[in-house]
Amino acid sequence: MRLILLGPPGAGKGTQALRLVAKYGLVQLSTGDMLRAAVKAATPVGRKVKDIMECGGLCPDDIVVSIVADRIEQPDARKGFILDGFPRTVPQAAALDRMLKKRGIALDAVIELRVDEDALLKRIENRIAEMKARGEPLRSDDNPEVLRQRLVAYRKQTAPLVAYYRKQNVLRTVNGMAPIPDVTAAIDKALPPEPSTPKSKPVRNGAKRATAKARKPKAAVRLGKKSSKRASSPRKSAAAHKSAAQKTKSGETARP
Ligand code: ADP
Repeated sequence: MRLILLGPPGAGKGTQALRLVAKYGLVQLSTGDMLRAAVKAATPVGRKVKDIMECGGLCPDDIVVSIVADRIEQPDARKGFILDGFPRTVPQAAALDRMLKKRGIALDAVIELRVDEDALLKRIENRIAEMKARGEPLRSDDNPEVLRQRLVAYRKQTAPLVAYYRKQNVLRTVNGMAPIPDVTAAIDKALPPEPSTPKSKPVRNGAKRATAKARKPKAAVRLGKKSSKRASSPRKSAAAHKSAAQKTKSGETARP
């Protein structure tokens, strides 16, 4: 399963991603985490984005796209992934479309966590106060002023993705203001049937259960893709596996 969690800062994307990871065995690909790791390690990418992140702006598309392209190639992402914090601009979404198409895969759903902005500010201020009280380190962009800037960036650059994915017919909107377990339940309900767990789904009215094979092209059609044949080419996937195995063996990672 390949999912995107879409929503402004503080909407609960990270919390829900962790729950989805535990339930479906997917990997969470958080561009925020990857970029923070790059800043911490003072890599060339980290040095480029440090100031932008501290001000609450968005990092350049080419940097973020290349990080994600490397990361989804890793063996652990082949089973499926949740993108948390990516894409954040229309050009990033278009780049992701091209990336997935090249690999013959498709998105299963884009979950929009819809939240009320005033409540968001309060939510984040509470989170900051709680972390301070527990003596936990704060993120350098975790303060009300930068948060406002992050919200501006969201409204201007990321919110247009709602229409982008609605047009692709993969958008599912969930009320992100509900209690955490209710949001999780709403996301579960909004997800398409999961091919790897069909046994847990009740079969109603004696209807035949769709096989994973039968469902796959449907996802591709939803994204306007003509075919997902390339993904099923045994020669190609064997070669891809081999190169992934070699990468792992040689200890290569996608971290910027
Ligand atoms: P948030 O709490 O705002 O969802 P994230 O951890 O996802 O925060 O991201 C933190 C910062 O990292 C963003 O404010 C931005 O500077 C940078 N960032 C993360 N993902 C992207 C992206 N896809 N495109 C551009 N910048 C990004």
